[in-house]
Amino acid sequence: MKVFKIAIVGAGPAGYFAAQALQNLQNDEVKFSIDMFERLPTPWGLVRSGVAPDHPKIKTVSKVFEKIANAEGFRLIGNVEIGKDLPLSTLQNHYDAVAIAVGTPKGRRLGIPGEELKNVISSADFVYWYNGHPDYQDLEIDLTGRRAIVIGAGNVAMDVGRMLALDPIELDSTDTSEIALNRFHGSSIREVSIVARRGAEHAAFTAPELRELPDLDSIDVKIQEEDISKALSRAGSEPEKHVKSNLEAMRLISETPAKGIERELEFLFEHKPISINGSGKVESVTFETPHGEVTKECDLLITAIGYLPVQIAGLEVDGNRYRNNEGEISSGLYAVGWAKRGPSGVIGTNKSDAADVMKLLVSKLENPKASHDILLDLKESGVTIVDQAGWTRVNEAEVQNGEAKGKPRLKFLEIEQMLEIASTK
Ligand code: NAP
Repeated sequence: MKVFKIAIVGAGPAGYFAAQALQNLQNDEVKFSIDMFERLPTPWGLVRSGVAPDHPKIKTVSKVFEKIANAEGFRLIGNVEIGKDLPLSTLQNHYDAVAIAVGTPKGRRLGIPGEELKNVISSADFVYWYNGHPDYQDLEIDLTGRRAIVIGAGNVAMDVGRMLALDPIELDSTDTSEIALNRFHGSSIREVSIVARRGAEHAAFTAPELRELPDLDSIDVKIQEEDISKALSRAGSEPEKHVKSNLEAMRLISETPAKGIERELEFLFEHKPISINGSGKVESVTFETPHGEVTKECDLLITAIGYLPVQIAGLEVDGNRYRNNEGEISSGLYAVGWAKRGPSGVIGTNKSDAADVMKLLVSKLENPKASHDILLDLKESGVTIVDQAGWTRVNEAEVQNGEAKGKPRLKFLEIEQMLEIASTK
């Protein structure tokens, strides 16, 4: 029997689904010993740090991740950053193949004047902040104003818009970072505009997310009927299925009578941002619209316009992903998930995608390399590793601390705290 050693870099959905695909490809002749590296002491990637806290159902996929992690031949090697604590080339030397599953964590920039003003914040930072990512808890954000603009027409813009508009009481029973939750309770933001540069027929939202909006008790959601009727006529008689269901969901919102409450979430279309204005801090945004230039006042601006990969020595950034061909970066080196295809698709998209790449990876394996345990190198270099048992202690402590407050978990917000709990015997 041959046992191949595979390194997966990144413990998010794409990484776990790659591990699962490898586990499913094992047989009597071939087995895989999988080491999953993660830079944080906590795994689950965007399921922990990206999915909006008021969408707990989406997070139940973490049960699948834990099953994969507890299968034979799998090791979590957390708190180890590839490219910093360990070069990628070391993994390539010691493993039979390496799969990059690090996602695309940097926010894209608009590239228009005024983007450097205070309170202009990328969704990349804002989402990590409210989700308790330890590196983002010091985010400088001022929620004392009344109006927020969110630029972008994707599901991230919708998550961000909802989180800003919701009555924070609705977040009390979620795993929102305690720091962010306190700030939301003190927030004066009452009017949130999600602004799309193109017509509603081009919006990147998905219909299930739109459909839940009219049911939110604490927010009046507004879409102009005219925006939808124009979009419907532009979309023609046979629009694509997702366009049709999106427009249908938006039409229902536009026809829903206003509740007449203070908190508003409005959608604007055909507003292309051209400048962000203010002295020191954002005060307004100027848009180009079919009716000419329009300037809209705001106290906070969040850009939710997509994500980019970070530079890692040994990987070439190609637009919004790492350069790869069907997942193959070079011999023995692969990419899965957003690292492979850019920031698109829902969590489930990564399953079939990773399965295809792992099939390709396995088809190119010949003979296992000589055995070498990377943990020995890491221990020698003094890096504190969080393994599956350590993470389980953190996980259980968070869940237990959350129970007392009626939350699914109370997240630790500092790496030091996590490491301390992880190492408790
Ligand atoms: P996205 O779906 O690609 O949407 C990005 C949006 O930004 C688009 O509307 C795009 O408009 C707009 N945009 C890009 N450049 C712009 C510019 N210069 N000015 C104004 N607007 C600009 O990206 P995302 O929202 O970050 O989401 C990433 C992926 O995660 C998506 O596949 C999404 O469905 C998924 N996700 C899913 C969920 C969920 O299932 N609940 C939640 C969050 C995220 P154009 O089309 O005009 O370029």
